[in-house]
Amino acid sequence: MKAYDGMYIDGAWRPAAGPDVIEVVDPADGQVIATVPAGTVEDVDAAVRAARAALPAWAATAPAERAARLAALRDALVARQDEIARTVTAELGAPLKLSQTVHAAVPIAVAGSYAELAATYPFEERTGNSTVLHEPVGVVGAITPWNYPLHQIVAKAAPALAAGCTIVVKPAEDTPLVARLLAEAMHEAGVPAGVFNLVTGLGPVAGQALAEHPGVDLVSFTGSTAVGRRIGAVAAAAVKKVALELGGKSANVILPGADLARAVNVGVANVMSNSGQTCSAWTRMLVHRDQYDEAVELAAAAAAKYGDRIGPLVNATQQERVLGYIEKGVAEGARLVAGGPDAPRERGCFVRPTVFADVTPEMTIAQEEIFGPVLSVLRYEDEEDALRIANGTVYGLAGAVWAADEARATAFARRMETGQVDINGGRFNPLAPFGGYKQSGVGRELGVHGLTEYLQTKSLQF
Ligand code: NAD
Repeated sequence: MKAYDGMYIDGAWRPAAGPDVIEVVDPADGQVIATVPAGTVEDVDAAVRAARAALPAWAATAPAERAARLAALRDALVARQDEIARTVTAELGAPLKLSQTVHAAVPIAVAGSYAELAATYPFEERTGNSTVLHEPVGVVGAITPWNYPLHQIVAKAAPALAAGCTIVVKPAEDTPLVARLLAEAMHEAGVPAGVFNLVTGLGPVAGQALAEHPGVDLVSFTGSTAVGRRIGAVAAAAVKKVALELGGKSANVILPGADLARAVNVGVANVMSNSGQTCSAWTRMLVHRDQYDEAVELAAAAAAKYGDRIGPLVNATQQERVLGYIEKGVAEGARLVAGGPDAPRERGCFVRPTVFADVTPEMTIAQEEIFGPVLSVLRYEDEEDALRIANGTVYGLAGAVWAADEARATAFARRMETGQVDINGGRFNPLAPFGGYKQSGVGRELGVHGLTEYLQTKSLQF
């Protein structure tokens, strides 16, 4: 067990103001693997002051210099790739292969994409008799969750730095260790003191202090809708900019004529990956009534194959929450065809890969984000019915459409109220804007759209 006592503020690891610590637990076996300081209002204040002090110089650097630092950050992350993967496996519980191919690899790709964008983005443009300057918004307060613990920080920090903003990050309580590795990588990359700062701590203490701090110009939050709503209200009261990446209940729509086996197998894999702890997971599978029974059989068989291959959930609270949803699904009349509410092992926060059939759109398990390895399979009558069901939740983050041809799938996708749709198994693209319609959020991350979130315009008339 390692006891860390510093927070990365103003370019160095500094002792925390208070004595409290957070225990970091490996959810696979319940062992405490480390402690980190539980930051206080004072620590947040010190970090925001450092970020403000560093802002004028960083905002004035040439974009090429910011690009160079981000390229160096990407290289530092590459050098630490194994350490990052092992750390995410220890604190989140993700299988090592997933940690390597997703949790470590995606942030490297995203850091690299912003190195390139910083070098090429037109930070000045002409329109009529004006020159429009794209200037950094200022100091960013980033509050992030545990499910993709490094990606969700890099998806904020890399565009913020590319834009010329400085940043204070408050990572999730469950996964602070990989955030510390990122701070090390920033240091190694030569990012100047105060440009990137890290304060570990509890959400209602350090997170809230960061969201409320008058020295923060933009609050960028990823996490639950409940906390996002509060942060949005705090930011609105202070007329701060706010970006919210919240939950989802995305639909995987399988139209008649699609390759059913492929659509079902990819759909099940999408839900089970990261033990279902993915905001964009396709947790509702929509199948035409003529193919419904076959799809349910395929989904149950696919889920059964996962068996022991998925990791635990992040902590015991999430495990209980997810098992509670499974019990609720049974109580509301859905039919279990794989998995169930009994924990598969004595130790660790595991949940069995679970599939429900005969799910109707108004059921709790078809409406609320479960955040576990639980798939609901719903039946539809025709395309209009499928569309009504797909759009029939408060969320709109992602989705998928499968059809015999791309044109038909695309026509359906155009009518979906959601920020992303994968057509016939289209791959994740780290340059495509990611974010929510409806209550899935405000703003976009990744690529050029993610960069502009951290910029504001100034028009000079000549
Ligand atoms: P959460 O929203 O409580 O935590 C996310 C972050 O917000 C953490 O860093 C936390 O410390 C911080 N936070 C908590 N309370 C705060 C406050 N009052 N002020 C400022 N910051 C605060 O999420 P959780 O409790 O870890 O997970 C609960 C549920 O949220 C999950 O089951 C899932 O449905 C959803 N979730 C969604 C995502 C996503 O990517 N959209 C990520 C994680 C969790």
